[in-house]
Amino acid sequence: MRTDNAAYVERDLAHVWHPCTQMKDHEHVPLIPIRRGEGAWLEDFEGKRYLDAISSWWVNLFGHAHPRINAAVRAQLERLEQVILAGFTHEPVIRLSEALTAVAPAGLTRCFYADNGSSAVEVAVKMSFHYWRNVGRGAKRRFITLSNSYHGETLGALAVGNVDLYKDIYKPLLMDVITVPSPDCYEREPGESWAEHTRRKFALMEAALARHAHETAAVILEPLVQCAGGMRMYDPVYLTLLREACDRHEVHLIADEIAVGFGRTGTMFACEQAGIRPDLMCLSKGLTAGYLPLSAVLTSEPVYAAFYDEYVKLNAFLHSHSFTGNPLACSAALACLEIFRSEDVLGRNRALSAHLGERARTLQDHPHVAEVRQRGMIVAAELVRDKATREPYPWQQRRGLTLYRHALARGVLLRPVGNVVYFMPPYVVTPEEIDLMVEVAREGIELATCA
Ligand SMILES: *Cc1c(COP(=O)(O)O)cnc(C)c1O
Repeated sequence: MRTDNAAYVERDLAHVWHPCTQMKDHEHVPLIPIRRGEGAWLEDFEGKRYLDAISSWWVNLFGHAHPRINAAVRAQLERLEQVILAGFTHEPVIRLSEALTAVAPAGLTRCFYADNGSSAVEVAVKMSFHYWRNVGRGAKRRFITLSNSYHGETLGALAVGNVDLYKDIYKPLLMDVITVPSPDCYEREPGESWAEHTRRKFALMEAALARHAHETAAVILEPLVQCAGGMRMYDPVYLTLLREACDRHEVHLIADEIAVGFGRTGTMFACEQAGIRPDLMCLSKGLTAGYLPLSAVLTSEPVYAAFYDEYVKLNAFLHSHSFTGNPLACSAALACLEIFRSEDVLGRNRALSAHLGERARTLQDHPHVAEVRQRGMIVAAELVRDKATREPYPWQQRRGLTLYRHALARGVLLRPVGNVVYFMPPYVVTPEEIDLMVEVAREGIELATCA
């Protein structure tokens, strides 16, 4: 039997329908079959290696096939692979809940589990609405969201998100939300600081809250970085102002830390940079260091207490997924938090992100790069047709795809979001690997913008 790349691609394309893909593209865009991974590298069936500069869609933290996480999952596999979490419990979920509430912003003491990011967003949205209903304020049933935000692909998550490419088609199926312009600092005026711009944009949120608080359950947002929206960033002051305003207007704050949690922005959770505690915090992706599907919604005692009642009152949160709190996934998450505890991950990341930022900022001089921006281990370069006016390239030209293909040929996995090239590497990346990533991106930008 053939074991070259082409053999696997042929079998794959006969049956597998890939996510977020126009399958016809694979008539000319190569599909890459991966046989193994180690550290920051992936390897295909012909031995070609790819530096995973996007952490396999932002999930991987400590590299592929990490010995400690492998050992933890393997040990758990020998004991218990899965058990119902209603009426039953197990050690990994107990220990994980203790560990998560210990590292989360103080006061987030309750963990509700699901098995992917979108489901965590569904949980948070339902829980917030249901909380207000349980405390006698059923009119609070709407959600405030930011333009260009992303919270996942299931219908509730899609409704509170705002990336047209994913949302537009399904609008007839979605609940109506209140959308406030994002504080996105790419749009700041010349000479305006991030903090000034962010503060100015907050006035629009304040106005929306003043107008809609009586009918609003929660504001949901991605703290500091709108990742799927093109790695657009804003200042932490927005979160500080929002926390105060949500308290004043009696509206929940849902922090979707699915992409930015677990050290991505420089702190364990992005909310820490504003010193705030959300009412509900969604976690997934890096939660298991990118090993297994798992998500959690952390919340406070007051929210929990609003559901705690006699059964016949029918106040309980009767939401569930079959694999909620899966023991294997929980054991991977525990091993991940163990690495944070025993190694100075955030300290090491500070040095790595300084190096990454320094290298990536050299891309800024390119005539078609409008901006290079950074928040911790996330660095992005925005490609434009006209640097002076920031006129974007028409999306139909798919310039990011040219860059993607060039990078693959050079052994680096870079996967631009539209016209935004970004680096979000696993934390085990070396300075030399960072140099390679940036160099290949530079070549790719050159190629993608030359015609
Ligand atoms: C990826 C992501 C989600 C959705 O998570 P899935 O596991 O892909 O469903 C939600 N919110 C944010 C901010 C994300 O980046």
